[in-house]
Amino acid sequence: MLYKRSSQLFAEAEKVIPGGVNSPVRAFKAVGGTPIFVKSAKGAYLYDEDGNRLIDYINSWGPMILGHAYEPVVHAVIEKAKLGTSFGMPTELETQIAALAVAMVPNIDKIRFVNSGTEACMSAVRLARGFTKRDKIIKFAGCYHGHSDSFLIQAGSGAITFGSPNSPGVTAGTAKDTLLAKYNNLENVATLIEANKNEIAAIIVEPVAGNMGCIPPNKGFLEGLRQLCTDNGILLIFDEVMTGFRLAAGGVQELFNITADIVCFGKVIGGGLPVGAFAAREEIMNYLAPLGPVYQAGTLSGNPLAMAAGLAMLQALDTDRAIFQRLEEKTAYLAAGIDKVLKANNVTFTINSIGSMISVHFDAAPVIDFQTAANGDNETFKKFFHGLLQEGIYIAPSAYETWFITDALTYEDLDFTIRAIDKVSKTF
Ligand SMILES: *Cc1c(COP(=O)(O)O)cnc(C)c1O
Repeated sequence: MLYKRSSQLFAEAEKVIPGGVNSPVRAFKAVGGTPIFVKSAKGAYLYDEDGNRLIDYINSWGPMILGHAYEPVVHAVIEKAKLGTSFGMPTELETQIAALAVAMVPNIDKIRFVNSGTEACMSAVRLARGFTKRDKIIKFAGCYHGHSDSFLIQAGSGAITFGSPNSPGVTAGTAKDTLLAKYNNLENVATLIEANKNEIAAIIVEPVAGNMGCIPPNKGFLEGLRQLCTDNGILLIFDEVMTGFRLAAGGVQELFNITADIVCFGKVIGGGLPVGAFAAREEIMNYLAPLGPVYQAGTLSGNPLAMAAGLAMLQALDTDRAIFQRLEEKTAYLAAGIDKVLKANNVTFTINSIGSMISVHFDAAPVIDFQTAANGDNETFKKFFHGLLQEGIYIAPSAYETWFITDALTYEDLDFTIRAIDKVSKTF
C-alpha cells in the first residue's frame, strides 16, 4: 500500500502544528514513518487520503465501540446542529443523558459532564481533595489519567511512548502530592498509605489498565484497594474513561461487582464527540459548585451536539446489552487466532485481553504492571506494526496501547487480520 499523499500532508502539517499532530499518540515516532491522514471512516474501516482501506483496531482510541459513522449517532448530531450548536444554558438533553448514565452505572446518583477524559479525572481528584480535606493522591505507574499536572508522574499511553512519563512543566510542588504505586501490588499501596496516614484523599486507578497495553487486575487487587480505601477514609476513584460503557454497560464496577466512590468517563460516553464525565453518590457530588464549595465549570460542557451523540450511543448500548457478549466473543476469537499463528511462527509473545480490549506483547513473561509491559521487544513491535499497515490493518503506533474490538468488525475481518499476522510474523 502507498501512503504518498499522507506523507505530503504530514509535511504540511509539521510546518504549523508541533510534530504535525494535535495529540502525540497519533505520531509514528515510536515505530518510524509518517502518520496516515484519514479522509473518512465507516463501520470497521478507515479510508485514508491515498485511497487505502484499513481495518481499524484503534477506533479513535476507544469511542467508536459500534464502528465508525454509526447511523443513529450521525443522525442525532445532524438534527441537533440544525437547532443551534451551543447555548451556555441548560437543555433537557443533558438531563436525559445524565439519567440514562445513572441508570446504567451502579453506585452513582449524579453525574457532571465535561469535555474530555482529562477534565473528568482532574475534576474528580479536585472533588476528592475538597471532600476529604486532604492533599495527596496515589496513582499507579503506567496508568494514564489524561494530561493534567497531577497525573504526569510515571504516566502511561503517549507519555511512556515518548519517554516523558514525568513531564517537564509539572512543578515539584504538584508532583510531591502524587504518590506512585505499582499496579497489581497491594502491599505497595498499603505501605504508601501507612507512610502518609490521614493525608491521602484518593486512590485513582484504571480498574482494567489499558494504557500500558491491556492489563486486567489480578484477582483480589481491586477488592484490596476498596478495603484499604474504606479503612483509611480514602476515596477510590475508578478511571473508567476507557472501560466505561465498554467492558459492561455499568463498566468495571458492574463487571467485578466492586464499588468505587467516584467514577470517571470519557471516550464511549461521547459517541465520538469531545465528552468526559465524572459521577459519584449524592453526598460527594453535592460538594460541587453551585451546591458546594469545590469549583468546576465549562463553557462547552454539556454541549448539545456532544450530548446528542453520547445519548444516541448510550441508548444503543442500553437497548442491546448482548453487544458486550458479542464483543467478548470476537476478542476471544481474535486472541486465539493470533496465539495460534504466533506460536506456529516461533514468536515470543504474551496476549492480554478482556472484554473488547486486547494487546500483544513481544515478551514471554506475564504482563502485569508497568515494568513487565516495558520489557516487550520494540523492534519486533515495529516490524509487526508496519507489516500490518502494509496488509491494510491499523493498530496503534505504540506497543503500550490497547486494541479495541468493535461491533462493526466481522469474523471475515478477524480472519483476514489473523492471516495477515501469520504472514507478517514470518518476517520477524
Ligand atoms: C483516554 C484516557 C484518558 C484521557 O481522556 P482524554 O479524553 O484523552 O483527555 C484518561 N483516562 C484513561 C483511562 C484514558 O484511557
